[in-house]
Amino acid sequence: MSFRTGSGFDLHRIVPGRKMILGGVDIPYDRGFLGHSDGDVLVHSVCSALLGAAGMKDLGTYFPDTDPKWKNADSLRIILPEVHQMIAKRFSVYNLDITVVMEKPKLAPYIDSIKKNLARTLQLDVNRIAVKATRTEECFLIPPNEAALVLVSLLLREKRTVSRKPDARRSKTK
Ligand SMILES: [Zn+2]
Repeated sequence: MSFRTGSGFDLHRIVPGRKMILGGVDIPYDRGFLGHSDGDVLVHSVCSALLGAAGMKDLGTYFPDTDPKWKNADSLRIILPEVHQMIAKRFSVYNLDITVVMEKPKLAPYIDSIKKNLARTLQLDVNRIAVKATRTEECFLIPPNEAALVLVSLLLREKRTVSRKPDARRSKTK
């Protein structure tokens, strides 16, 4: 059995006139993430880590922000499933560790929903997903209340290589 690690990073500004969608959860707040898609900084970071672990290119290569197709796209329901599909032939996700760096709002009430959303999309047990929120304690690594940063590390498990006599029934139901 072989494993591959991946790391993800994404940073989005928080601005008026946008919904705050994080991990597919619509968080009630007076501002939201700027972005060409829905701006879901957490899902983008997960996608980046998945692509990295699989040895592929950056997210923008596959989902360019110049393409009107992705304007306001639902990152959890459209972009993440596509990325998952790209890697799912060769890999399954083993675990995910996510850190959200953001001052406001408090994320604790939404973390279970975020984990469930990711578990469903990635066909992964929810116990293999960690979502932690942290603040910069006035170090201003990022402008306070003006941006959110999400770091991800994850592990992919390589699926067994296809045998020379493929079982037709099994490959059909995959
Ligand atoms: Zn992004």
